[in-house]
Amino acid sequence: MRPTGRLHLGHYHGVLKNWLELQHSYECFFFIADWHALTTHYETPLDLGQHVTDMVIDWLAAGVSPSAATVFVQSRVPEHAELHLLLSMITPLGWLERVPTYKDQQEQLRERDLATYGFLGYPVLQSADVLAYRAGLVPVGEDQVAHLEVTREIARRFNHLYGREPGFADKAEAAIDKIGKKMARRYRDLRKRFQEQGEGEALDVARALLEGQQNLSLADRERLFGYLEGGGKIILPEPQPMLTPTAKMPGLDGRKMSKSYNNAISLRSEPAQVDRQIRTMPTDPARVRRTDPGDPDKCPVWALHQVYTPEETRIELAHGCRTAGIGCLDCKRPLIEGVLAELAPIQERAREYASDPGLVRSIINEGSEAAREEARETLDEVRRAMGLDY
Ligand code: SF4
Repeated sequence: MRPTGRLHLGHYHGVLKNWLELQHSYECFFFIADWHALTTHYETPLDLGQHVTDMVIDWLAAGVSPSAATVFVQSRVPEHAELHLLLSMITPLGWLERVPTYKDQQEQLRERDLATYGFLGYPVLQSADVLAYRAGLVPVGEDQVAHLEVTREIARRFNHLYGREPGFADKAEAAIDKIGKKMARRYRDLRKRFQEQGEGEALDVARALLEGQQNLSLADRERLFGYLEGGGKIILPEPQPMLTPTAKMPGLDGRKMSKSYNNAISLRSEPAQVDRQIRTMPTDPARVRRTDPGDPDKCPVWALHQVYTPEETRIELAHGCRTAGIGCLDCKRPLIEGVLAELAPIQERAREYASDPGLVRSIINEGSEAAREEARETLDEVRRAMGLDY
């Protein structure tokens, strides 16, 4: 996540709640992409420190747990920069120029000069971010799958160029021993059997087989998979997208909740402010007077009710709206209560973390050090493969 400062309910529902589940099911790395912020906002770097702290506090307050996941800051792990540099050597310019967001963003941020080397290269930096941890899965929305595809292409090219080293077959055999020769044989049989029915299916079966091997790390499984595929060594496994449902969190004006639209409820907004924000939300314009009936489908408040209000209550409210049986303030009340109830425990934790900057700093330090250890291992292997281990 880029360090944009304090988070709002759109982040909470769109990203963080998903992370809270993932952190207990996978080995997760969550990081603040401060170098990425510089690719588009290189002229205003001064607020970065505060934004990073604010964001980490909000993550922790929302329930991201440093004991379950590795929480760190990108620039504290210089291996990202080294890998970015090394990968940039093998990345054709055309791949970067055709990333859909490259032109879009230049259009959207026309007031900024984005004809920079850093901006063009941010997909390589993003690839380094993922590949440094040999991540198996990257949680992305539908619109980011193309980005991940660049990462996969870069990994594939890297493996193709540097993945065949003498003696690898022996190492792969040893890896196969890890899951048992029987399993590997079964894989080969299956592969043969399914070949006629199409490559894709055979691979899916094989992947499912290997994924059942809980004693193997994801990276090991990917490496082994690569070996079984073609005998080459996979140094940087190709990450798979883990599609996350697109955030449906509407903002106060019905558009997507976003700081730049000025329609967001911040996670740390005072209850009185939240109350004011919701009370002053626009409603169906047809409800000029209390006695005018309205249509919930034309009302931004209704979109928020979908997130916060149980169905039975919604049925009553919709009826009240359509028959002018209730006023808009009556309708907003349960919504205000719902939002405040969700925010209360988050705000309490945020207060605790905000009052203890030393604790937040040490969480960032420890997380960054743990991430570094992991990235160092990858870089050792990358350097060796590229002949830089002298
Ligand atoms: Fe919107 Fe509720 Fe008012 Fe209907 S009653 S217009 S749904 S706020």
